[in-house]
Amino acid sequence: MNRILIVEDEERISSFVAKGLKAEGFTPTVVADGVTGLDYALTGEFDLMVLDIGLPGMDGFAILERVKVDRPALPVIVLTARDSVTDTISALEGGAADYMSKPFRFGELLARVRLRLRSPGEPAPEEDLSAGEVRLDLRRRRAYVGQREVELSARELTLAEVLIRNRGLVLSREQLLSQVWGYDFDPGSNVVDVYVGYLRKKLGADLVTTVRGLGYRVD
Ligand code: CA
Repeated sequence: MNRILIVEDEERISSFVAKGLKAEGFTPTVVADGVTGLDYALTGEFDLMVLDIGLPGMDGFAILERVKVDRPALPVIVLTARDSVTDTISALEGGAADYMSKPFRFGELLARVRLRLRSPGEPAPEEDLSAGEVRLDLRRRRAYVGQREVELSARELTLAEVLIRNRGLVLSREQLLSQVWGYDFDPGSNVVDVYVGYLRKKLGADLVTTVRGLGYRVD
């Protein structure tokens, strides 16, 4: 259950998604035009498809219609342009399993991919993550230090989630940027350091360790 077809003509997005999925143990295949995308989708060789709407050759809606008829069991996650509500509604009416608006964070896409690939008998993903006194309630998107609830922004919560999920491992700034901020970031930006500072202030100074020259780690 790990073969993923990515039909996306924007190379920057497809390579970002493919790289991320590969790092998570999936086997991604990238196709950049609609006609080939539909051919691949109908082979039955894939467990899930990530589908762009605006594509050369054949658009995502036409692909979705055919897939719905010929491969109704194939889960599809549609990528739509930002704020394109009409696209989204049509996609859902066309039978897409799910959709994401661009730009999106890789972590969000990954969560949806995992959800769609999970068979009904498998346990739901964990709802709580903790490190020391800090606990994240992922279902309600809340953070606690001991019994006290702490207000975190969506971005802060995602950063804390990624760090705690990978506890014991050093994560580089680039890894954190791509997992928390997505592909629309400036690689030279110090936003990761700034947000780690926010987390320390809100969740405790010793939650995140700086590993000089490498990145950050939660123990
Ligand atoms: Ca496109």
